[in-house]
Amino acid sequence: MIPVADPHAQYLAHAAEIDAAIRRVLDSGRYVLGPECEAFEKEFAAFAGVQHAVGVGNGTDAVHVALRACGIGAGDEVITVSHTAVATVAAIELCGATPVLVDIDPIHFTMDPDALAAAFTSRTRAVIPVHIYGQPADLRRIVPMARERGVFVIEDCAQAHGATFEGRPVGSWGDLACFSFYPTKNLGAIGDGGLVATNDPQLADRARRFREYGWSTRYVSATTGTNSRLDELQAAVLRVKLAYLSRDNVRRQAIATIYDRALASLDVVRPSVRPDATHVYHLYVVRSAQRDALQQALAQHRVGSAVHYPVPVHLQPAYQSRLKHGDLSQTERAAGEVLSLPMFPELSREDVERVCEAVAKASA
Ligand SMILES: *Cc1c(COP(=O)(O)O)cnc(C)c1O
Repeated sequence: MIPVADPHAQYLAHAAEIDAAIRRVLDSGRYVLGPECEAFEKEFAAFAGVQHAVGVGNGTDAVHVALRACGIGAGDEVITVSHTAVATVAAIELCGATPVLVDIDPIHFTMDPDALAAAFTSRTRAVIPVHIYGQPADLRRIVPMARERGVFVIEDCAQAHGATFEGRPVGSWGDLACFSFYPTKNLGAIGDGGLVATNDPQLADRARRFREYGWSTRYVSATTGTNSRLDELQAAVLRVKLAYLSRDNVRRQAIATIYDRALASLDVVRPSVRPDATHVYHLYVVRSAQRDALQQALAQHRVGSAVHYPVPVHLQPAYQSRLKHGDLSQTERAAGEVLSLPMFPELSREDVERVCEAVAKASA
C-alpha cells in the first residue's frame, strides 16, 4: 500500500546526519532548552522571515502560547475556521477564550474574508487564519480587516512551512505565527515539537516566558505560565531537516504538477492555487462527489488516501452545538468531498505513476 505520508522514509533519507545529531545531544548532557533549541530558533526565524522564534512542545501549544502572549483569555472572542485540525480550536479554549467559527472559500478551503467581516464583535481580540493543506489564506484581505479593528492576527502555519504569499513567507504577515513539527508535517520532528514566530520583541518575550512557568529569570514567575519546551533531541533533528525543507517543498510541488496533469481529464476537482501564492502541498487534496467510492477503489489498487477532515470541529462530539458560528455550509460540504492523495518528498516516481493510474481507473 502506498501511504499518504511516510515519516520513516524521511528518517532513512537523512539517517546518518540524524543519528549523528542525536548522538551529539546525548553526549552534550543538555536535554531541554539548550544550544540546539537556540540554534534552531535562529535558523527557523531566518527561514520564516521573522525576527524571533520560540520553540515549544507542539503546534497546539504554539497557538495557545501565542494567544497568551497577546493577553487573550476569558471573555475574549477568537475567530477561526471549523475546517481545520481540532488543535486550532482546542488551543483557543485552553486560554479560556471563546472560539467563533467562520466558513471557508470553497475553492481554496481557507477562511472566507466576507464571513470573517460579518463575525467581528466588540469582544473579538484575535483572528487565526489557517493555511490549510499548505496554501496561504487570503492574507491580503484578512490582515487589514483585523488591523483596522485593533485585532491580533495569529497565523496557523502548521501545514504551510515555507509557503509564500505575494513573495513573503507565511508567518511573517500576522502579529504571531504558529508552527507544528508533528512527524508528518512539511518539517517534522521524531516526536512532538512546535514554534511561535513573531517580529515583535515584546510578544516574543511574553511567549518565551509563558512556555516556562512565566519565569522572568530562573525560579521567578513574573507572570503565570505553563511547561511547553522544545527538547534538544527534537531541535537537533529539526536542524538537520530544516536544511532540506526548501528542496522537499519543491519535490512536493513537482509531485503536485504530475498529479495535476494526470487528473486534468478526470471527474475530480484538483487543488486551486491562489494567485500570487506558492502552495507547499502538505497535502494534495482533491474533491469528488463520490469521495467514499473513490477512496475504496484506490484502496483496491493499493493506494492509500485520507480525509482531512471528515468531521468539522463544530460537529465533533466534544464541541457540537456549543460553539459560536454562522453559516458553515461550505465547510460541511467540503468535509463530505475532500480526499488527500499520497504526498511526501520521498514518494518515488513509480509510485506517483501508480497513484495517477489508480485514480484514473477508480474515477472511470
Ligand atoms: C497539526 C496541526 C496543528 C497542531 O499541531 P500539533 O503539533 O499536532 O499539536 C494545529 N493546526 C493545524 C492546522 C495542524 O495541521
